[in-house]
This record gives sequence, C-alpha cells and structure tokens, in this order.
Amino acid sequence: MQNALIVEDLPEIRDWLVQVAQAAFPGVAVTRAARVDEALARVTERGFDLALIDLGLPDGSGIDVVGALRQRQPTAVPVVVTIYDDDDHLFPALQAGAFGYLLKEQPQDALVAQLLRMTQGEPPLSPPIARRVLSYFAGEAQRRQSLVRQVEEQVRLTDRETEVLQRVAKGYTLPEIATQFGLSRHTIADHIKQVYRKLNVSSRAEAALEAARRGLVNP
Ligand code: CA
Repeated sequence: MQNALIVEDLPEIRDWLVQVAQAAFPGVAVTRAARVDEALARVTERGFDLALIDLGLPDGSGIDVVGALRQRQPTAVPVVVTIYDDDDHLFPALQAGAFGYLLKEQPQDALVAQLLRMTQGEPPLSPPIARRVLSYFAGEAQRRQSLVRQVEEQVRLTDRETEVLQRVAKGYTLPEIATQFGLSRHTIADHIKQVYRKLNVSSRAEAALEAARRGLVNP
C-alpha cells in the first residue's frame, strides 16, 4: 500500500484514520478529503491503492466515492469506516464495491489488525459486520426454503382431491363421481376446480396425464 485516500469530514477522526492507515502500512502517502466532491476530484487526479471512506459526508454518501473508485481505479481497495452497523448502510456499500467495512467504535489496534488482513487477501470486516453478513445469508436460505414449502403446500392435493382426480382420470363423469362419494355435484365440481388449479391443468385429458405421472392411475 503506497497511496491511501482518507475521506472523512470530522478533522479529528480524519487524523485518527490517517494514523490507522500509517500504522498498518508504514510510509504510505495519505491524501485527505472531507467531502464527496473533494474525494471524487482526488480520485480523478491520482491513483490509490487503498481508500478509507466515511459514509455520512456533508454533501452526500461515501457510497458514491466507493462506486467511483471501483469504476475508475479497479485495483484500489475501498474500505468503509463508519458508525453505521445496520443493513441499510452495509449492503449498499458492499454492493457498490466496498472490499471492507469497519466500525469506528473499534479501538485503533483492532482497525490496524483488520486492515493488515488485506495483505492476506482477507476483507477487513469488524466482527459484528461479519456476523451480520453471515446471518443475512443464513436468513435468505431459510426464507427461500419456507417459500418452497408454501408453494408445495398450495399445490398438494388433499386425500379427497386425490380420489376425485383418480376418478376423473378413469373417465367417470361429474354426476357419477358425486353419486360414488354421496356428495353433491356442486361439491365435486369444487374439488375438480381445486385439482385443476393445483395441477395447473385445464382439461380432463391433462388431468388424466398428470394423475398417471403421479402414479395415481395406471396409464
Ligand atoms: Ca461523517
């Protein structure tokens, strides 16, 4: 790391971030910016290896700086350093191309250690952020599973519907099926409607094929 960009509006925090960068990468040349427009100007002027970028800036969001850096300097590593630990800040920043996400609440030593991990190719993530990313993806997997279950539930035939389908497939008419079950035609018509909807078919022939496919009748 030879050239670092530090984007932070509060002077004392900016100085602190300079110290963090220099502790992690001794001899690194530091360029400072306090606003989004200033940072974007610096990005067009010179190349950077690393950028530490605050999100809450007076004229906009540091996410724009992350995006611009990724676009104009693909080899530069943008790392967000912020007080915000919520999904609404974290995920847009990662989406914009942030390679790391550090929380300002951490002691300087911890930040330095996390930046140093980059030399091993590891993204610098504060522990609560790493946990949030993992739990987000675990939650996604769970949501997807329950959606699949819901869909399965919606298309699963009840026992009565299965019996009705078998008889439809065998060629019995609606009045015949009603008599066989001792139910009204209206009720059997409802069952057939449900079966057609669940199987996504619109004719007796299609229903019969589907019944055969499910092994409910001999083809
Ligand atoms: Ca700020």
